[in-house]
Amino acid sequence: MTETKIYEVLNWASLFLEKANREPKVAEILIQHHLGLSKQEWLLSLRNPISEEKHMQIKADIKKHAETGIPVQHLTGYEAFYGRSFEVNKNVLIPRPETEELILAIKEYIGSETDPVRIVDIGTGSGIIAITLALEFGTAEVFATDISSEALQVAKRNADQLKADVSFMKGDFLSPLMNETIPFDVIVSNPPYIAKSEAVELSDTVRNFDPELALFAEEDGLAAYYMIMAQVKEMPLKQGTLLAFEIGHTQGKRVKERIQHIFPDSHVEIKKDINGKDRIILASHLS
Ligand code: GLN
Repeated sequence: MTETKIYEVLNWASLFLEKANREPKVAEILIQHHLGLSKQEWLLSLRNPISEEKHMQIKADIKKHAETGIPVQHLTGYEAFYGRSFEVNKNVLIPRPETEELILAIKEYIGSETDPVRIVDIGTGSGIIAITLALEFGTAEVFATDISSEALQVAKRNADQLKADVSFMKGDFLSPLMNETIPFDVIVSNPPYIAKSEAVELSDTVRNFDPELALFAEEDGLAAYYMIMAQVKEMPLKQGTLLAFEIGHTQGKRVKERIQHIFPDSHVEIKKDINGKDRIILASHLS
């Protein structure tokens, strides 16, 4: 009996996924995961034989992904964000590359500030924003909230794993921090922002597997922004306090108008993502 080689499994899996209208790249990710291969080892390993056991496991996962649309990240248990690996599961939104733009925008805003900055990440999910900012600004004091206890468990494990110092709190948006007396430097959130009416446009991978709580908001997807702004209005603020949101690409104008309505002196800027779509909104001079 001739042995099966890794590249043969790769070819089969890529074709299988393509025929099922799935992303063929998933094959590489799943095979690397099952075989414990790093990106560096990958090309050099392609001609190596694969055990029957691993072959069967990979086949099963490829079929499961093709048939149900289960995200590859739920099969491997992790996703990369800003160069680091984060644990994910069905209780948290899978990190999206667009959200890295929020990190970049905040880094640019903070610049070379040497005093420790106080940051809060609202609806932290897997913790990607809070943890990344805590690690990028070694001296920052970082808080993170989420309404979901299950999500907070994932976020805490990620913070432990990556050795990030973040204070996690359970509650709706800023509720656990409403008694704070020291103003924050950065209030950031990638809240749910999809309108329920748009659910039909989502792929099954998103619609059936990302948590509903993380995806959808009332008021045409804008409810979370409105609730956060109302809470921010009640908090101690300073001129330099930055409010940074990820937004849906059609929401820039409406979110900007609401910010300017609630904070008449604010400076508001909309930034685009790598695809040229409105993705980030930054507001300062809130008080
Ligand atoms: N803050 C997390 C992220 O950006 C979770 C966002 C959410 O669940 N809407 O991935």
